[in-house]
Amino acid sequence: MTATIIDGKAFAARVRAQVAEGVARVKREAGVTPGLAVVLVGADPASEVYVRSKGKMCAEVGMESFEHRLAEDTSEADLLALIERLNADAAVHGILVQLPLPGHLDSDLVINSIDPAKDVDGFHISNVGLLGTGQKAMVPCTPLGCLMMLRDHLGSLSGKDAVVIGRSNIVGKPMAQLLLGDSCTVTIAHSRTADLAETVRRADIVVAAVGRPEMVPGDWIKPGATVIDVGINRIEGEDGKTRLVGDVDYASCAAVAGAITPVPGGVGPMTIACLLANTLTACCRANGLAEPEGLTA
Ligand code: NAD
Repeated sequence: MTATIIDGKAFAARVRAQVAEGVARVKREAGVTPGLAVVLVGADPASEVYVRSKGKMCAEVGMESFEHRLAEDTSEADLLALIERLNADAAVHGILVQLPLPGHLDSDLVINSIDPAKDVDGFHISNVGLLGTGQKAMVPCTPLGCLMMLRDHLGSLSGKDAVVIGRSNIVGKPMAQLLLGDSCTVTIAHSRTADLAETVRRADIVVAAVGRPEMVPGDWIKPGATVIDVGINRIEGEDGKTRLVGDVDYASCAAVAGAITPVPGGVGPMTIACLLANTLTACCRANGLAEPEGLTA
């Protein structure tokens, strides 16, 4: 079998087009422009790239973006004061604090100071609780993007065996909650899982979110399974050039799976599209407007 390639780049473009339509509707119906505030503390080059591309994507879908760049040695009090101002600012519907924060700042404290209704990353403890209890939440962008791709490819996920490899708060755990919400039978595997290969072999759906290059080989994959590769790993090829690979060994998995996301061009583009979708959703909720269809969990 040769797997269908799930084209995250094309899918993300469709999601952004839907968001752009939603933004136009919100402007028309309520005279409101959805706005996303991004807070970057310090000058981490990778974070700089993310922040710039978020600003560009906001402009493309017709949203406002507000960038707040703070010095590396910014005090916790000053950062919390900025978040308080953004919480109170009616033009800001989504607030994203770029992680990781410098070591002297308490990330949990900072994230939990964001108004949960504006927490477009879905990391606030209230949103974690709402998602865990099946209530309307702001859902973390990467797992939301994975869920959208799975629903699009498979239709109903009900009754499927799903294995999520990785138990981080950002990807693994919320992914498992979302799959459970869609009535999958979910296993969360992690670094202490006794027999990872056998666990993965049972799965109709495999979501790999580990951060270890090409660790899942094709002979762990059940024939016909759907494989979502969240990993982004930079490795050096034989030619000395660096390239991006996922957590699954693409060639051997694609030979067995029914469908697979590539790296790059799979989950990555969906994450930022879902950030825009969450900002639109937050804006609709704040203004009592109908939420965009198909862009939430
Ligand atoms: P993390 O380091 O917080 O968590 C990794 C998880 O993998 C841990 O729960 C750990 O238990 C598990 N793990 C480690 N070694 C293992 C092993 N040998 N076997 C099984 N499980 C093992 O990472 P994260 O933030 O969840 O990110 C995971 C990967 O996804 C990284 O490559 C990251 O770059 C990528 N990522 C991509 C996107 C995107 O937009 N595509 C977004 C977030 C993260």
